Amino acid sequence: MNCELCGKSAGKSKKIRVEGTTLQVCPSCARHGEEVFQSRGGKTKEDILARINRIQNRPYSYEGTREEKELALDYPDRISKARIQLNWTQEELSNRVNEKKSVISKIERGDLNPSEELIKKLENVLDIELKEKIMEVAPKKSNTSSGLTIGDLIKEG
Ligand SMILES: [Zn+2]
Repeated sequence: MNCELCGKSAGKSKKIRVEGTTLQVCPSCARHGEEVFQSRGGKTKEDILARINRIQNRPYSYEGTREEKELALDYPDRISKARIQLNWTQEELSNRVNEKKSVISKIERGDLNPSEELIKKLENVLDIELKEKIMEVAPKKSNTSSGLTIGDLIKEG
């Protein structure tokens, strides 16, 4: 670390403020300015910037979308249409997925949500998709939150 005033290698540097500029200087040059003391907790500018980043990256302030697959709302239709296209009775379908016929008829009425395992079986034997991507749009950052400054954080901290 070299002193920013005299250029000498300064083992133990001090931060001083000279006419609004912060300089890292050797102890003998420190008298040319007003010494700047670290704020409580020894926060550095990097710490504070990291903190701003964390705040701006909090869950639900991130931008973008999250993709998830969920059982389609019209799954009963999808199943019965596909089954009818294949000319299968509910009984036939139930045999192919190793379920009771009553289970299949409940599912086709929408009275019963098929289990994950049964969804996979039905998708396989009927060659259909029962799940669809649900696009969850995260709320956008409001413009007001970007007014956060380092000064605010120092006060807050
Ligand atoms: Zn110096």
